[in-house]
Amino acid sequence: MKKEQTQNTVSRRGMLKFLGGATAGAGAAMMGACQSNPSTPSSASAASGMSLDIGKANLPKAKGPRAVVVGGGWSGLTMAKYLKKYYDKFDVVLVEKNSTFFSCPMSNIWMTGADPQVDTDFMRHSYADAAKNNNYIFFNACAINADRKNKVLYTDQGSIDYDYLVVAPGIDYDYSRIGVTPEQEYILRKEYPAGFMPGSEHLSLKEKLEDFDGGTFLLTVPKGNYRCLPAPYERTCLIADYFKKNKIDGKVVLLDMNPDITIKKKGFHHAFDNLYKGIVQYVKSANIVAVDPIKKTVTTNTEGFEDVYKFDDAAIYPPVRAAKLIEIMGLAKEGSQHEADIDPFTYQAKGDEHVYVTGDARFMGYSKSGNTSNSEAHYVAKVVAAHAQGKPLPKWESPHTICYSAVKSSPLESIMVDAKYKYKGRKLAGFTDVTLKEQWSPQLGQANIAWAEGMFNDMFA
Ligand SMILES: Cc1cc2nc3c(=O)[nH]c(=O)nc-3n(C[C@H](O)[C@H](O)[C@H](O)COP(=O)(O)OP(=O)(O)OC[C@H]3O[C@@H](n4cnc5c(N)ncnc54)[C@H](O)[C@@H]3O)c2cc1C
Repeated sequence: MKKEQTQNTVSRRGMLKFLGGATAGAGAAMMGACQSNPSTPSSASAASGMSLDIGKANLPKAKGPRAVVVGGGWSGLTMAKYLKKYYDKFDVVLVEKNSTFFSCPMSNIWMTGADPQVDTDFMRHSYADAAKNNNYIFFNACAINADRKNKVLYTDQGSIDYDYLVVAPGIDYDYSRIGVTPEQEYILRKEYPAGFMPGSEHLSLKEKLEDFDGGTFLLTVPKGNYRCLPAPYERTCLIADYFKKNKIDGKVVLLDMNPDITIKKKGFHHAFDNLYKGIVQYVKSANIVAVDPIKKTVTTNTEGFEDVYKFDDAAIYPPVRAAKLIEIMGLAKEGSQHEADIDPFTYQAKGDEHVYVTGDARFMGYSKSGNTSNSEAHYVAKVVAAHAQGKPLPKWESPHTICYSAVKSSPLESIMVDAKYKYKGRKLAGFTDVTLKEQWSPQLGQANIAWAEGMFNDMFA
């Protein structure tokens, strides 16, 4: 069986080179070495002001109030740029553990070669250029904790004094919620990565697909407010499309822990039933209770009925939680996803008006998506800039969720949703101003690509 070569093939070695920090030590990256550094002090230090003697980071002297942003993802990159734009006296430092940005959005299209425009150059971007273009400092380091009393951020490259701290580290996986032991988690992260965090996981998935000779490719959808609701369904469609295109005798089994498709339900069901009949097996309410990476099985227990699904290859997406740094810094709210305890309108940490948390680590039930994080950061940058200048804080602006999902290639065809959020008092009351387009078309496919270009432009140019 001959596989058609995807147009944007990149070698593993090449990819490791450009992903830099995050992948340099594969083992370390897989275990989230950044957060589980043995020298990491407990969250008590964040609150009590206990200091760590690790030396100062090698940075130029601050020329104005220093605003430090942790995490160079969709939220942090936007924050760094717009903090400087809204208050040019800010001396902005972006702390990011990876040396190169590689996009999560569009990665399903990239890994399946569904559109030649979405190649590796489209997906990766330079932090150094973003900093140069927008007049801030990029500091390639891992944040390990903060002494919030004395306004000091600790990184593995030394400490940084701040006037304002914005923490935007994204998510971590929580394998314990699908009955996985730490030993199994280590194997799953290595052999069957979810592909929902920036770094080397996308490369592993792309290689898996290129090496797949047939059989069952198993994907999962977690419970809870997981990162990018439509992405597992989009991935299912594009992998099925890849099997069809490359004449691979494969089946995609999608085990969804939810009672049904969580968003763009009509469009995805239509695609599964029509475009990928006989290739996609969709299983709803699949309550995953165990995953055995050695026997290659996933066990579900739904209302007392146990089913065991065998796979040849898989990408196991467990439930998510806020990045562990949020907890380490003493910023986490009680609850299973450990998201940040912030004011939903100002994003200020409870009891700390100099610390803000944005992006997918927030507790508010917005869609954990790139457009949401980007639009939210535009607003929060205004809040921080106003606070620093002693001005009244701006009126709350709703984050904006715009999310395209590709369902087929040649040409690329997509569906989409566009929505904002409304509150009743201080309680989030769901979506408003919703536009839903569930009939795929090449026009929406091109709009999908144009959307990503616009976002990259906003964060990097
Ligand atoms: C397959 C897939 C498809 C998607 N498709 C879409 C889409 O079409 N549209 C859309 O809007 N969204 C999409 N998303 C969702 C989107 O990627 C996320 O919601 C978005 O990236 C969240 O931004 P963030 O800044 O909060 O987190 P991230 O973008 O994950 O950024 C967090 C950053 O913090 C860094 N970091 C973490 N801890 C530390 C530390 N201790 N020190 C220093 N740095 C640290 C990380 O390396 C990372 O760069 C998709 C996601 C996936 C996985």
